[in-house]
Amino acid sequence: MWMLDWGYHPCFEIPRRAVGFLTLLMPPVLFHQLSRGFSRDHPIFITTHGPCFAYTMTNSNDPKGDGEGKLMEPQELIGSQAADPPLLPTPEVLEDLAAISQSFESAEPETILEWAASRYGNRFTMATAFGPEGMVILEMLSRVSPRTPVFNLDTGYQFAETLALRDRVAEKYRIEVELMRPELTVVEYEALHGGPLYKTDPNRCCGDRKLSVLKRAARGKYAWASAIRRDQSPDRAMASIIGWDRKFHLVKVSPLANWTKKQVWDRIVKNDIPYNPLHDAGYTSIGCWPCTRAVLSGEDERAGRWSGTGKTECGLHTQD
Ligand code: SF4
Repeated sequence: MWMLDWGYHPCFEIPRRAVGFLTLLMPPVLFHQLSRGFSRDHPIFITTHGPCFAYTMTNSNDPKGDGEGKLMEPQELIGSQAADPPLLPTPEVLEDLAAISQSFESAEPETILEWAASRYGNRFTMATAFGPEGMVILEMLSRVSPRTPVFNLDTGYQFAETLALRDRVAEKYRIEVELMRPELTVVEYEALHGGPLYKTDPNRCCGDRKLSVLKRAARGKYAWASAIRRDQSPDRAMASIIGWDRKFHLVKVSPLANWTKKQVWDRIVKNDIPYNPLHDAGYTSIGCWPCTRAVLSGEDERAGRWSGTGKTECGLHTQD
């Protein structure tokens, strides 16, 4: 959104004779903006006030507020930047989220999901890889907010057992999980890079086949639900229940943040929630098949992900 502020500017004392010049300048400025088209992404507001005349142009699509004033193209806007109106992480918004998060520390996950669905409506979404935590949340959503849109990042490298869960979820909970795919198929992608990047540059592979797809899937949303637990890894230990995800410009809702693995599996057994059969074969955390192995006795539950590479996260849940 661009705003032309035609009025007094405290940092911009100008002699009155410059007013005529600035007045002459306005039509080309307006023409430039109008040539970009009045749109939901670039509305123009003109205000008039104050005793002197000057104009400033501010760009609320500048999420960092760093004053660069760079106009982002609509396709570059991610998460809530692309919403109308956008949800911006002002100090007041961040303070509000922190207070709500604190108040949810001992709340039931269903209560947290209900809050998110009621506050953000169809701008609340969920990404799932059909892990045990995700399956628990899907079962909860089926009870408290079955119309919340859910998607899966279908990298093209998922296990068949993982994808089969999509049908189980549809049958049992009437939730249609949308498969969101990268622009290039695996064959096209590997041909472009002279082979599979998961062997040589897994960070780039995750970036292209997961992160960029999430950015596309969550455009125009305000909030997303994640299934992370704090005790899964040091990277996740500081996760808030409700917080601002600055990487994707969304409110991140983690209703199971303070649950344990035992609580998750107890709920799966108690409510007869479907789960990936690979868990019974020692795969405690399941991602893409080339980057996942079963864990050995005594290993960390995420030790089978990108084993031997030093990589521990795909980047969806880190803020770097
Ligand atoms: S987990 Fe492996 S195969 Fe999947 S996107 Fe990341 S690097 Fe590529």
